[in-house]
Amino acid sequence: MIVILSKGITGRDRALIRSWLEERSFTCREQTLGDDAVIGAAGKGTADIRELALLPGVERVAATSKPYELASRETKSADTIVSVSAAPSGPAVKIGGSRITIIAGPCAVESREQIFETAARVRESGAVLLRGGAYKPRTSPYAFQGLGMQGLELMKAAGEAEGMPIVTEVVSPELADAMKDLTDMFQIGARNMQNFELLKKAGALKKPVLLKRGPSATIEEWLLSAEYLLASGANGVVLCERGIRTFETYTRNTLDISAIPVVKRLSHLPVIVDPSHAVGIRAMVSSAGLAAVAAGADGLTVEVHPKPDTALSDGPQSLYPAQFERLMRDIEALAPVVGKELLRTPRPAVLPAAPSPAAGRRVPGGPDTPPSGAAEHPVAFAGESGAYAEQALMRAFGEDAPRRACPSFSAVFDSLLDGSSAFAVVPVENSLTGSIHENYDLFLRYPDIALAGEIKLRIVHCLIAREGASLDTIVEVRSHSQGFAQCGDFLKKHHWVLEPYYNTAAAVASLLGEEGADRTRAAAIAGEAAAKAYGLHILKEGIETNPLNYTRFVIAARKGENGEAPAPPSLGSVRANKASLIFSVSDEPGALFACLKILSGRGINLSKLESRPIQGRPWQYQFYVDLRLPETGEDFSRALAALRERTGDFRYLGAYRGAV
Ligand code: PEP
Ligand code: MN
Repeated sequence: MIVILSKGITGRDRALIRSWLEERSFTCREQTLGDDAVIGAAGKGTADIRELALLPGVERVAATSKPYELASRETKSADTIVSVSAAPSGPAVKIGGSRITIIAGPCAVESREQIFETAARVRESGAVLLRGGAYKPRTSPYAFQGLGMQGLELMKAAGEAEGMPIVTEVVSPELADAMKDLTDMFQIGARNMQNFELLKKAGALKKPVLLKRGPSATIEEWLLSAEYLLASGANGVVLCERGIRTFETYTRNTLDISAIPVVKRLSHLPVIVDPSHAVGIRAMVSSAGLAAVAAGADGLTVEVHPKPDTALSDGPQSLYPAQFERLMRDIEALAPVVGKELLRTPRPAVLPAAPSPAAGRRVPGGPDTPPSGAAEHPVAFAGESGAYAEQALMRAFGEDAPRRACPSFSAVFDSLLDGSSAFAVVPVENSLTGSIHENYDLFLRYPDIALAGEIKLRIVHCLIAREGASLDTIVEVRSHSQGFAQCGDFLKKHHWVLEPYYNTAAAVASLLGEEGADRTRAAAIAGEAAAKAYGLHILKEGIETNPLNYTRFVIAARKGENGEAPAPPSLGSVRANKASLIFSVSDEPGALFACLKILSGRGINLSKLESRPIQGRPWQYQFYVDLRLPETGEDFSRALAALRERTGDFRYLGAYRGAV
């Protein structure tokens, strides 16, 4: 049984609750669970839960039907997000929620060169946590056992050089204290999953723990081991499926993909997958990793080695850095399909000053300047709580990012200009219905605002209504015009009056204003998050005409002195790979062709070209252009200068890291 304590509980009330439980033969243990302080009461005692719930200082009592109470979703319904940081006050790498967190590194630390090179390569491809064994639990006593403390020191230094907290295995309770100060996240290996003394010790050190599933452990045994860690005080537990022992011998183990949705249902803890130990064969690691992401894993831990053929352990299952890079690109492309975003964190390496936006930029929010933006100022979006833009915002800035809901897109731009928001997230294009011209027009009207990033969000529309409503009671449907346009086929089957709203979440909020018989006559089209935000019912999910329905949001910010917007803190100095422009051309043969030639002549690839009538100038057009930045900033600067000369109304919107 778990007693969740009220936020401002006094020491006296806390002591009273404990003695109340102890008098009834419970053993009590105090701990934190997410944001809550709780008392876990175990033992054979009996108590009337209703009476307990009435004691001062008790917020709620959770009596679960599961033997693992702290780890159970019955106790805590929201997903837990585990933070791992290299220093108590340093930036945290988050695992869980709507992000995909990638851990990579060698099986074992072998030498300074090996761990530094691997760290640099995996970081370059986007890994955010560095893995590696200093103490290796090997099946054979004659196999390489790891470099011990020396290996750990090297790994910590490599992690620091690349701005990656480190995850390493602790194999015995005796070593845990010595390793503590150099370790950011303890890994409990598969062979030690039920080493209960080790679990208690690792938990008591109050660090986040990555708990591997034992090769022969049931899901319940695995969750009970997580319970040991949580009950001993671990500062967050991440579960890791790494393959189980079955009759199949082709692969090293059998990756239990179904464990991911099962554990997600049973527990609030994040679940990641180790495809390397699961399959044990390099050629199959990436497929298994992608399958895990598709099945809902919150991340992966992947073995990578610069020269796998010479690795001292697990070479055959270690990816070459180039294979890992390919896997990362595939994960980035897959993430929006499953409603997630690949987590990126700033790299500390200070890149050379930019000759042009194409080169790496030293940005505010990078590690060499105090973080600015989202940490202190809100991020603006248009709409109400639960809007798709808010989902996109949380992807880029985190679930807990301070945010400002604005009543219109122009209010969003105004809040950037007057400094009340540091960043903004606005939609610019939907894959089914095309560009959102209003926002392109605003970029033209606000020359001091530039692009700083991009997020691609899969849009799954739901028909949302008050309790008691059904498809038969509805006469009116409310949504943003884009919502109607994207659900055309579904709406055609019904004869409802369509009532446009400025935002999908606002349409949902409006349902709460209806009383009496009107309660069930209106419905709204919006995302699941909006239904949750207002506690309403989803009558039908996935009503968009085509499931491949994505909206591209851009992150916008006020331009800095270098003429570019600062990158959002989550992107740090990740290299910009995309830029956007708007221009018009003169009315003469070959005018557009000449502009495109400027780009093609320098090998610059266009990813979007769209023409649109210029407001107030009938039959004249402007062009929206998105392009992939070339390797050298030089080429891009020259192309920009040439385009500026050849075109009218030229507007450079900025260089940024594009979504795949
Ligand atoms: C490892 O991650 O290096 C390892 C030994 O994994 P497992 O405990 O899953 O075998
Ligand atoms: Mn290994």
